[in-house]
Amino acid sequence: MEYNSSIIQLKGIGEKTKTYFEKLGIHTVGELITNYPRDYEQYAAPVSVAGCVPGEICAVSAQVAGIVSEKKSGRLQILSFRITDGKVSMRMTFFNMPFLKKKLKPGSCYIFRGRVQRYGSELFMEQPKLYTAAEYDHYLNKLMPIYSLTKGLTNLTFQKTVLQALGKYQFPAEYYPNEIIEENELLPEREAIEALHFPKDFEQLKLARKRVVFDEFFAFLYQLRQNSLQNEGLPNQYQMFETADTVRFLEKLPFPLTKAQKKVWQEIRDDLSSQSCMNRLIQGDVGSGKTILALLALLMTASNGYQGALMAPTEVLAMQHYETVTQYVNRYGICFKPVLLVGSMNSKEKKAAYEKIASGEANLIIGTHALIQDKVSYRSLALVVTDEQHRFGVRQRESLAEKGEMPHILVMSATPIPRTLAIILYGDLKISVVDELPADRKPIKNCVVNTSYRSKAYRFIAGQVAEGRQVYVICPQVEEGELENLENVVDYTEKLRHELPSSVQIAYLHGKMRPAEKNRIMDAFANHSIDVLVSTTVIEVGINVPNATVMMVENAERFGLAQLHQLRGRVGRGAHQSYCIFVSSQDKEETLERLSILNRSNDGFYIASQDLKLRGPGDLFGIRQSGEFSFRVGDIYSDAAILKQASDAVDRVLADDPALEKETHKLLKDHLSFALSNNIDFRTI
Ligand code: ADP
Ligand code: MG
Repeated sequence: MEYNSSIIQLKGIGEKTKTYFEKLGIHTVGELITNYPRDYEQYAAPVSVAGCVPGEICAVSAQVAGIVSEKKSGRLQILSFRITDGKVSMRMTFFNMPFLKKKLKPGSCYIFRGRVQRYGSELFMEQPKLYTAAEYDHYLNKLMPIYSLTKGLTNLTFQKTVLQALGKYQFPAEYYPNEIIEENELLPEREAIEALHFPKDFEQLKLARKRVVFDEFFAFLYQLRQNSLQNEGLPNQYQMFETADTVRFLEKLPFPLTKAQKKVWQEIRDDLSSQSCMNRLIQGDVGSGKTILALLALLMTASNGYQGALMAPTEVLAMQHYETVTQYVNRYGICFKPVLLVGSMNSKEKKAAYEKIASGEANLIIGTHALIQDKVSYRSLALVVTDEQHRFGVRQRESLAEKGEMPHILVMSATPIPRTLAIILYGDLKISVVDELPADRKPIKNCVVNTSYRSKAYRFIAGQVAEGRQVYVICPQVEEGELENLENVVDYTEKLRHELPSSVQIAYLHGKMRPAEKNRIMDAFANHSIDVLVSTTVIEVGINVPNATVMMVENAERFGLAQLHQLRGRVGRGAHQSYCIFVSSQDKEETLERLSILNRSNDGFYIASQDLKLRGPGDLFGIRQSGEFSFRVGDIYSDAAILKQASDAVDRVLADDPALEKETHKLLKDHLSFALSNNIDFRTI
């Protein structure tokens, strides 16, 4: 079978099962085998009762002491046994399994595997899996894949289907030249993909993962290099000169630019007036004041008689920018004629916007990626600024080029990356750094706590709301049940409505809501008709509500530190003292140690680098750091070393054979054009 063979050709997949897989975005055999497990279950050597760690999954080898209780609750039959290792005992509770009464005879020995829980001083497991010693031996030390599932699909079905597909899939011949394989110690693709699903051990898993991550980075960097070759030395078709508008605007602003902002503004001015087209990245920590720099560049563009566009990754953020600009226009009389263009506008509104853009009546166009769609034609687009996230990056310039424009490009990013990485990842851009926060900021007060602190936190939140402040609460998932034991936005909102005084206005926001609805909620929060906003990380990106002073993050252990730092950047944007409460639902020492880095520092670069040091092999798939460079498996931080290797490999290949015309590169060329056209969406819009 080939990459694009339908999964219906696999045994056991009928129309119904096919739709379950399709819900997960899996239509083809290729998509199936590159849908990697989200985690692995490790069958570690059994421990004694005394060796059980509350909160973790353990296999405990013990003797049955006897039944301690037998109850009925509704349709549920609850059967509890006591087991003992001779010294310590614990309780095992089973639901609707009456036959165990016969099986678990006092004195018999079994291995019980499940999550260890604690009630007071008593340890217990609910519904553990049961093995004889011989049965367990079969699983011992193996890693079994756990897949993201959807209703109707079990993990076992998924495993079997993948196993079958791996057997039938015709893997392509090795496409890298030998030197690349040897130098970087890459496993063959087949071995790697098989081992990612069914690894023998962690060591093999690590090697397997390396190959797949290398592939992702290689293709991405290859495309990036191609682009930078094309962009290099593009002539400046829109040469600008400085006008009085930007000077006057700066004079009227209620604050002076920081030294760092001034330096970057100078760099932008130099670019716009130079001989060649601008390709610049502004990198600066959250709250460092990047927006104003973008507006200055756009103002220079407008006052030179051209159009500029400001693209944001979400509608909420686009509307926020539009409002900021409108306020500046009203207050300071600057020469912007802004227009908003986002997907959720109705067709009449859109048509009006298109007309203003085409006629040149609008000189500042603010929106989402709707800005680069076919229907939009610009009169004189000279500058495109993309805010927060490189997501649009490469392809956006291509789509604009197709419209016959070759505008200046300015990208703004708050992703904290060390310079060495930035040079690789933004190889096609010059980099400006805003490495200073405005002086009037009060440092945010942080605390890392466990869930027992919640009621105290709610009292604190109620107090802040009573003082007129606003609050964000972040949960890792939208609704119940996607992942076990995690807080979700919908239920948490209900819970908060009970916990907080009824006068507190609470609403929620998440990525599955319709854009118009999201905009409405975000507007209401910005206007302070909402006090507490419960949300997924959709609010991570760039939102500016200076009156918000508390950021509470539930299941903080689930997030990368860089991401938590971004979330923290949503508060501390105004004159009031701000607070962050990171709630961990794990008491593990490593988890608390990792989170406590956030306590020690407010510096995004420092945090990301410390986070790396503390990661163990168990975090291979767990935590995503960067929403900006979203690779399927790779992570720019934890896989920085592989990124460097891939970058060197790409450079070497291109130096030798820029167009990949040599016979030895034929397979590689085919592979890359397939990988880049087909399924790998590196920078998903
Ligand atoms: P980010 O870099 O995260 O995008 P913003 O551009 O949204 O940050 O700026 C955050 C806040 O700081 C805004 O309210 C902005 O008006 C304000 N700000 C920007 N520059 C300065 C400055 N030099 N002094 C004081 N406040 C500033
Ligand atoms: Mg911003």
